[in-house]
Amino acid sequence: MDFVEAVRRGCELTSPTTSLFVKGDQHTSTCILGAALVGVGLPIPSTTAKAIEMLREIFPILSDGELICPEWHSRPRILSRGDMAVHLNDQHRWDRLRTAQYISEASNG
Ligand SMILES: [Zn+2]
Repeated sequence: MDFVEAVRRGCELTSPTTSLFVKGDQHTSTCILGAALVGVGLPIPSTTAKAIEMLREIFPILSDGELICPEWHSRPRILSRGDMAVHLNDQHRWDRLRTAQYISEASNG
């Protein structure tokens, strides 16, 4: 399973949010990292840093160079793919699946 497929599966089981993990009465909400972890059937850790660490072991693409944020910034925003996933999810509220596709396909900045 690749990163996009993991996020796709996670999106079917959770609703989107800017937090790593929110357990509600009706819906569990996760950011893109949480969706990927749910998608591969792993427990969600307590911190975003740990989530990125876990996901980098499963999906090496998340460590593959840095990306320039495709959204407007007064100064270019350059982040690792794992951090860019969080940035697009939280700062720009990108759809989780769109973010996963971008993170997987974009050329290094
Ligand atoms: Zn940005």
